[in-house]
Amino acid sequence: MATIFTKIINREIPATIVFENDKVLAFKDINPQAPVHILVVSKKEIPTINDIKEEDKELIGEMYIAIAKIAKDFGIDKEGYRVVTNCNEYGGQEVFHIHFHLLGGKKLGAKII
Ligand code: 5GP
Repeated sequence: MATIFTKIINREIPATIVFENDKVLAFKDINPQAPVHILVVSKKEIPTINDIKEEDKELIGEMYIAIAKIAKDFGIDKEGYRVVTNCNEYGGQEVFHIHFHLLGGKKLGAKII
């Protein structure tokens, strides 16, 4: 079954899309945890970080290039931001379709590492 993010990629459910290329889609999180909270999603359905394969190396690089571009577009590149990926239960992952949270727009608290 398609993930909720694939439904957004396929325009079956709405989202505020801020970036797209052939491999990556980025849109605003529905439940933002910071003034800027963007989800940067792989168009390929990879469930978790554990499932990344050799052949996905270029894709993961593309996702980080997209993150840097979006951060610049939103004017948060200089002040800084945080990029988070949750994996499985202990990581708090809810949507099993690989994505990076791009968080910024304020000084972020509660660093755990
Ligand atoms: P995870 O917990 O898997 O790392 O993050 C999933 C994120 O997806 C959550 O921050 C949640 O708010 C967001 N989310 C879940 N469903 C939707 C949706 O339908 N639209 C958007 N824009 N974000 C969603």
